[in-house]
Amino acid sequence: MTKHKFETEVNQLLQLIVHSLYSNQEVFLRELVSNASDALDKLKHLTLVDERYKQLELDPVIDIEFDPDTKTISIRDNGIGMDREDLIEQLGTIARSGTRKFLEQMNRENRADSNLIGQFGVGFYSCFMVADFVEVITRKALEDTSWCWSSNGKGEYDLIESDRESHGTTVLLRLNEAGREYANRWSIETIIKKYSNHIFFPIKLHYHETRFEGEGVDKQEIKEAKESRLNDGTALWRRPKRELTDKEYHDFYKSLTHDNEDPFLTIHTQAEGNFEYTTLFFIPSKAPMDLYYANHRPGVRLYIKRVFITDSEKDLLPVWLRFVQGVIDSEDLPLNVSREVLQKNALLEKICNTSVKKILDELEKLSEDEEKYARFWSEFQRPMKEGLYGDYLNREKLLELVRFRTTHAEGWTSLAAYCGRMQEKQKSIYYITGSNERHLKDSPLLEAYRDKGIEVLLMGDEIDEIVVPMVGKYKEFEFKSVNRAEGDQDLKTDEDTQTKSDSISLLERLKKVLDDKVKDVRTSYRLSASPACIVVDDKDPTVHMQSILKTLGQNAPELKPILEINPDHPIVKKLDKLEDDNLFSDIGYLLFEQAMLIEGMEIESPAKFVKRINTIMDRAL
Ligand code: ADP
Ligand code: MG
Repeated sequence: MTKHKFETEVNQLLQLIVHSLYSNQEVFLRELVSNASDALDKLKHLTLVDERYKQLELDPVIDIEFDPDTKTISIRDNGIGMDREDLIEQLGTIARSGTRKFLEQMNRENRADSNLIGQFGVGFYSCFMVADFVEVITRKALEDTSWCWSSNGKGEYDLIESDRESHGTTVLLRLNEAGREYANRWSIETIIKKYSNHIFFPIKLHYHETRFEGEGVDKQEIKEAKESRLNDGTALWRRPKRELTDKEYHDFYKSLTHDNEDPFLTIHTQAEGNFEYTTLFFIPSKAPMDLYYANHRPGVRLYIKRVFITDSEKDLLPVWLRFVQGVIDSEDLPLNVSREVLQKNALLEKICNTSVKKILDELEKLSEDEEKYARFWSEFQRPMKEGLYGDYLNREKLLELVRFRTTHAEGWTSLAAYCGRMQEKQKSIYYITGSNERHLKDSPLLEAYRDKGIEVLLMGDEIDEIVVPMVGKYKEFEFKSVNRAEGDQDLKTDEDTQTKSDSISLLERLKKVLDDKVKDVRTSYRLSASPACIVVDDKDPTVHMQSILKTLGQNAPELKPILEINPDHPIVKKLDKLEDDNLFSDIGYLLFEQAMLIEGMEIESPAKFVKRINTIMDRAL
């Protein structure tokens, strides 16, 4: 059996590629060259660390050939190659998670963008944008058998033994109608210069030039084989900073990440002295698609003395900095490091720690430009807050870099700015959490804070709920949640405690009515316009947190809220004097239920709620 079926998802992907991706088809060449370069990287690394590979003669090169007559293009490398299993795994199944994610993303955004294809690790298939038949002739290093994989991209592929003189891979494309325009020297040169100029290994273009020899009848047409090198192949990060232009940095970034937008921030460090190393980091303009996938790809590649070592080392930068793309290149690490050694290497650790500091410093500089920093923050606040949560070493710096919405200013506010606006006797930083930032502003929980001019941070991001209590304080100021009972500390002035006319009997009566629905009924110091509100006990998760836990499928225990009553409110005052027990019970419940609704909680029985309202309406009319 030589025929194999593509797995369902691969098929869907191919359908999408053939039928929907019409823009930017030229990226197929970038993807194939990038694969060739990866294959050379992998083999080169093996020759350094593995005895068995040391015997191999390695003169890495990527050769591109085209033929305008037969309408073909081939991309050839002498890299690691693939065996039968590799071919089946890599070019036919969904073993790699990229395929499914790419499809999901395309469906979600309802768009087809050829540019994204490389970012999801499904770049190979992009060749079906321009080809109606593709052959992959390959031989894995140290093996004797070669294989030919071929497909027209329609459901199946063929896999047969083949012969290839040595290790490496050749991808041969029979171009379709749309792809024919690429079978010429100018196109290929332009595309390679555009996307692949910084590929480390020489990319050579092979072509024929026709010339005429002789005179008259003797005149002969001679086709001469030529080759030209297409890329610079210099390690851009090693060139002196002053020589490099923004455009060069940006082009390099794009070839590294397959992003088609310029990076947001470029951070280039060339350290000399005791340890020599270079780091070149980029922060993208947009958060990468896979930022929140569990299995995201690390963005930083490690080189040692300009030799590629790995792009899958997740620990080079902390996980929360996973949006940073770029290169670390060390002069002093041993070339033949194994993974295990690498992970324990003190020097590398030092480089990595310094890199994190450097990135944070640059962000701090950036934050002086509020408008620009806001753009960064809007894209990357999530991972930055993850850092705040988990990276104890850098917490202080990160606390200066976080931004929140607030009741007292437009846009984003820093904690320093909040503290600068604090009232004289204020002891805490107040914040309110909830699922919707816009509604937060209208929450009755904020009434007294507003009346007293106390600023409250508005936190509508799920992660805030987890991060902020964990961090606990900024400088000497504790974070206090307005959603919690404790949050009214600065609201209770002596004057208040005197004037607030606690009606013990009212509280007791309400407690009796609401019985097991509430943990407690108390006098509120945080309300002015509303009669009642819901808060949670200091140690309990907030209402919003409880619903997050529920959506995560966690069995959060049913926690009872605390009902707070505004004794100065006309309704409450009248309620206090009400003798009709039935009406008292209905109104007591309604106070409780309206407070629940405003908090975004579900009420136990909407039917009973409506019935109560109707009873009251009936009486009022
Ligand atoms: P990615 O390069 O992001 O992994 P691709 O779809 O571009 O995704 O390639 C899929 C896989 O196919 C690669 O990871 C690699 O294992 C294999 N592959 C593709 N081209 C080559 C090649 N020229 N040499 C060796 N392996 C290759
Ligand atoms: Mg690839």
